[in-house]
Amino acid sequence: NRVYRLAKRPEGTPDHDTFELSEEEIPDPGPGEVLIKTLYLSVDPYMRDRMRDSESYADPWDVGDALKGAVVGEVVESNGARFDEGDVVTGELEWAEYATAPGPVLTEVNPELAPISTALGVLGMPGLTAYFGTREVAQPAAGDTFVVTGAAGAVGSVAGQLAKLQGARVVGFAGSDEKVSFLEDDLGFDAGINYKTTDDYRAALDEAAPDGVDAYFDNVGGPITDAVFTRLNTDARVAVCGQISLYNSEEVPMGPRKLTQVIQSRATVEGLLVSDFEPRFEEATKQLGQWVASGDISYRETVTEGIENAPDAFLGLFEGENIGKQLVQVAER
Ligand code: NDP
Repeated sequence: NRVYRLAKRPEGTPDHDTFELSEEEIPDPGPGEVLIKTLYLSVDPYMRDRMRDSESYADPWDVGDALKGAVVGEVVESNGARFDEGDVVTGELEWAEYATAPGPVLTEVNPELAPISTALGVLGMPGLTAYFGTREVAQPAAGDTFVVTGAAGAVGSVAGQLAKLQGARVVGFAGSDEKVSFLEDDLGFDAGINYKTTDDYRAALDEAAPDGVDAYFDNVGGPITDAVFTRLNTDARVAVCGQISLYNSEEVPMGPRKLTQVIQSRATVEGLLVSDFEPRFEEATKQLGQWVASGDISYRETVTEGIENAPDAFLGLFEGENIGKQLVQVAER
């Protein structure tokens, strides 16, 4: 059983020395537990924070700990848990080929409803983040201009489509021309901005969002966010979801000091934590599932094969190598 553990705390950008692949015994499920064969595991930007020894919304890992994240797997043995062999489940499990878990921490995944990998993407935590961040926090109305950063990623790609469904004009920032085409041609965004080939974000916004910004869904922070803030309209809503451009910084550069546009626009800037919406996950997943089935929402996945490549998949998030949800396929069902 190959298991990834935290080899050391990274300084700045993590690299392969951050991870240790150890060969271990397949664990036995205790009473009320199941043994799960990992099929897909999710790599997520917030995991960078868990590698740091500091207070955060997710507890830090200690050096030597197994890395953990959302997994979709198949039950191969049940020791009195409410699942049977062959059931597909999802939960927070180790980055390992096999893991045990108590039944109550797992959720069943119905392979008849959608491909099982979607439980980690559009129908999992990223999709739910997009759903609540857009509909409850940024709240784009028909005719509004909605801007999203990290737009071609797991959360951003869904957020932009949800804003489109609300009737907004949707503008996305992403890091390549291929991603901009994906936004405009495949997802129906009104405009995409390649921030890596654009120096002047304000000028790019003036062109893509000529009426200013009414709702902003921020996944990346940094200079793009500074620019968007200068274009906020009266009563704009800002959903602060992620700040990935800063996750690897040991010294975070000073943010926007001149918040006069926030005063002038009376904008509401609100932090978003998806777990706060847990009581409504079931309802939101059902709604997202219907939109995926009807084609109102499309999704993309970037699938890396083999548990040994999980570190590369994780590190690739900070290089923008993924389009849509980044997954690691560990085994076939
Ligand atoms: P993504 O699938 O969006 O992957 C990360 C993307 O971020 C990359 O593809 C890359 O795309 C972009 N990126 C990386 N570095 C930078 C940079 N320096 N500047 C601008 N863009 C960069 O990840 P997720 O959809 O899973 O997560 C998106 C954000 O949402 C993250 O910040 C994450 O932490 C946050 N999040 C927050 C949650 C909450 O409850 N608050 C829950 C889930 C996620 P590109 O090519 O465009 O650079």
